[in-house]
Amino acid sequence: MSLPRTLGELRHSPYSEETLRTRRVKDELRDNLVTRLRAGCPIFPGIVGYDDTVVPQIVNAVLSRHNFILLGLRGQAKSRILRALTTLLDPQMPYIAGCEIHDHPYAPICRRCREFVAEQGDSTPIAYLSQDERYVEKLATPDVTIADLIGDIDPIKAARGGHELSSEMTVHYGLLPRANRGIFAINELPDLAGKIQVGLFNIMQEGDVQIKGYPIRLPLDLALVFSANPEDYTARGKIITPLKDRIGSEIRTHYPATVEEGIAITAQEAWTQRNKHKLHVPKYVQEVIERIAFAAREDKKVDKRSGVSQRLPISCMENVISNAERRAIRHQEKLVVPRIGDVYAAMPAITGKLELEYEGEMKGADHVGRELIRTAVAKTYDSYFKGAEMNQVVQWFDLGGEIQLADTAGAAEALTSLRNIQGLMEKLVKLNVGPKDTPEAQVSAAEFVLEGLHAHKRIGRNEERVFTAGEKTPKATEKSFEREDLPPFRGRRPYN
Ligand SMILES: [Zn+2]
Repeated sequence: MSLPRTLGELRHSPYSEETLRTRRVKDELRDNLVTRLRAGCPIFPGIVGYDDTVVPQIVNAVLSRHNFILLGLRGQAKSRILRALTTLLDPQMPYIAGCEIHDHPYAPICRRCREFVAEQGDSTPIAYLSQDERYVEKLATPDVTIADLIGDIDPIKAARGGHELSSEMTVHYGLLPRANRGIFAINELPDLAGKIQVGLFNIMQEGDVQIKGYPIRLPLDLALVFSANPEDYTARGKIITPLKDRIGSEIRTHYPATVEEGIAITAQEAWTQRNKHKLHVPKYVQEVIERIAFAAREDKKVDKRSGVSQRLPISCMENVISNAERRAIRHQEKLVVPRIGDVYAAMPAITGKLELEYEGEMKGADHVGRELIRTAVAKTYDSYFKGAEMNQVVQWFDLGGEIQLADTAGAAEALTSLRNIQGLMEKLVKLNVGPKDTPEAQVSAAEFVLEGLHAHKRIGRNEERVFTAGEKTPKATEKSFEREDLPPFRGRRPYN
């Protein structure tokens, strides 16, 4: 279908004056949402874990035609949800061609367009915006000015056009007017200076604003959405009350409630499908990676206020695969199977995403990171091997057995040494791995068992990744291993 190109054509199209004139952005979002709800389609495809919590609240906010704010910690898909709102806009929106603020064909607010329409009548040219073009996003920082957000008086424009300074013809428009008839998102709202918040409020409330003392009338049509850290937002004095009052709905986001949900998000977001190499990421590796984030969110050495982003497991997964890929390339293996050793090698993807408390700072990010991996390995190991008889394996080490499993060691060679450990390979059945599986998969699974035993301090391992007998404190170790309530590790060794 070819779109109407002039105001005259537009009048006799589905975009008639009757349908369009009173339809504001929030009506448009609402109408399209209602259609989607009726059809029973997912509202925000690709947003995982929010179906029963965040999504219904957003739906209600849109149905209520509210401006709303998402309150949540880092990496809770806030920006992603806000961006997904564009899918509720019409595919094409007509506006008066050439207008900087995308004026409404039937109700232009800028003088340029009003004069233009008066002059050209039905031959006024019409242009269109797509959904994405109607989304403007701004990260709030203390140095954002009224000029950035709303606009500035341009004396040159005034002089050239012979306009008065207070005429809107002299305004150099900021982000907000340029987002007119679309969605405007401000991230980290509390970082916006009070003065700017007042300007924002005036636009929302009255449709006019003062720029350098000149009153400028701008009755903009916008859906305003915000995001903020909950503590910053609720802190007294960070948000001016009248602005808070104008935000219709306050919606809390959260981290994945279960490891399974976390795995689903990470699987969706991480870059895993790479060329050339066939990849198999064992379930226990996925779980360990996810549980690092879960453990970090509970760890008192990690700052609770900033949270632990879902980007931690996502970046970690990418690095884990890369380390495994590097090994596969070196040994000309056809299959890439990550191991727990690769998770330890992915430390650069972990440490940068942890805001540490004082105690954590003292111990160092690396130390904290390794502890988190160990906790994650111990928990994952328990989910497969809780109560499993591992004495034979432990005994092999106690009798002086040693094995080195560098993260760079090829699968064939590693498998040969692992087979020497009596009682080990048959335990892998719990991981659905047997002697017929590829060497890559068998080595990864066997190494996971050893890492699990090490995480529970039943066997030792040094920095060169040599597994050895553990340091025994007779009886007591056996007991504490079974007891969940005891802190699993009190590092006696300087390494993990
Ligand atoms: Zn205009």
